[in-house]
Amino acid sequence: LPPVVAIIGRPNVGKSTLVNRIIGRREAVVEDVPGVTRDRVSYQAEWGGQDFTLVDTGGWEHDAKGLQARVAEQAEIAADLADAVIFVVDSSVGATATDESVMKMLRRIKKPVFLVANKVDDIMQEAEAHALWSLGFGQPYPVSALHGRGTADLLDDLVKKL
Ligand code: GDP
Ligand code: MG
Repeated sequence: LPPVVAIIGRPNVGKSTLVNRIIGRREAVVEDVPGVTRDRVSYQAEWGGQDFTLVDTGGWEHDAKGLQARVAEQAEIAADLADAVIFVVDSSVGATATDESVMKMLRRIKKPVFLVANKVDDIMQEAEAHALWSLGFGQPYPVSALHGRGTADLLDDLVKKL
């Protein structure tokens, strides 16, 4: 079976958009309102000859439980099941308390983690991505899932760790 890569993060940061970008099709459901990923969650993907299974998360987003607890819990479940994790943060918002708690969980797991600063649509927004150094995971990958900016560098490094 191909290795599994989980895409985790708060609602609305662009996880499903990134899934679509990576698989090259618009299959994962993207919405302007949080909480709309509810269809298929696993997608077959390939980069540089390496096959992998991409898992979109977020189908739990309408749950009544507190959002922060739910994000952390679902992130942990996905990370446990995966061989590598892509943690997506919205660079236009910056690191929230929820992001910090996910980060703490990710530091404990012994798996490759790729921190993505999403919504870096142009060079002007790279400064916002650099602010995510504060999460303590080093340099984030500045990415625009919407336009494809930065995704090749992310995928090059990802498949090296699979
Ligand atoms: P998810 O809830 O994390 O799966 O987020 P979605 O993929 O559904 O995206 C939420 C919203 O953010 C949608 O309106 C997307 O079009 C938008 N979005 C996602 N990626 C980007 C990006 O790179 N740049 C910008 N400007 N918007 C984005
Ligand atoms: Mg989604």
